[in-house]
Amino acid sequence: MAQLIQGSIPLLISLPHNSSFIPESLQERMQTSARSAPDTDWFVDQLYAFAQEWGASILTPSYSRYVVDLNRPRDDTSLYPGQNTTGLCPTTQFDGSPVYLEGREPTLDEIKLRVEQYWEPYHQALQDELDRLHQEFGRVVLWEGHSIKGENLPYLFDGVLPDLNIGTADGTTCLPHTQQALTDVLAAQDEFSWVVNGRFKGGYNTRHYNDPAHNREAIQLEMAQRTYMDEPRRAFDHDKAGKVQLLMASLLQTVL
Ligand SMILES: [Zn+2]
Repeated sequence: MAQLIQGSIPLLISLPHNSSFIPESLQERMQTSARSAPDTDWFVDQLYAFAQEWGASILTPSYSRYVVDLNRPRDDTSLYPGQNTTGLCPTTQFDGSPVYLEGREPTLDEIKLRVEQYWEPYHQALQDELDRLHQEFGRVVLWEGHSIKGENLPYLFDGVLPDLNIGTADGTTCLPHTQQALTDVLAAQDEFSWVVNGRFKGGYNTRHYNDPAHNREAIQLEMAQRTYMDEPRRAFDHDKAGKVQLLMASLLQTVL
């Protein structure tokens, strides 16, 4: 239900929306447009492969966020009250259209089962690995790696999303000097647009797995997919990715 690659530095990179896999029995209940899991954080495992070589731990899921969203609380409390967002077992796509065929949405019992089968193992692995690294190094950083289509998603945001969006729940999930150092790295370059705690302030995982006073920090990086993808072809663009990976590497160096 989750794949953990254990590393040797105090950094865990969690990529909860990396998989696009939806079992066929579930796909059959979905709209045609939803079956290819269009709201996947495409190729983020490939994007962060360099950090695995450094010795970072990497956690990836087996299933699409359409099965269960691993970056939502198990009781499905809204992350952004008053704004559109998608839920624990999403019934709405990012473009506002339905995920399921009419009347085929999951029941409450089915949602509970998905939490037990898919959500819990991911979160158990996340907690255990953070504890292991914290015990070994006396500190740990959770880096939540995400990506999203950066424009034409009026259901979720107006206009164009900056290339890089750092989320620390308004400065509460990491130490002040860490956020300042990340901001300094972003401000020192002008190739990529960026914001800290803009529309995306960090999802459930960033907000839940942190305790800065005890050297447990959490930071989310939401990236616009145009920075590393050929979006119309839904393909990884190595040339583009190479450039943004240099900046990602600087950000990760900073938190280490
Ligand atoms: Zn994501």
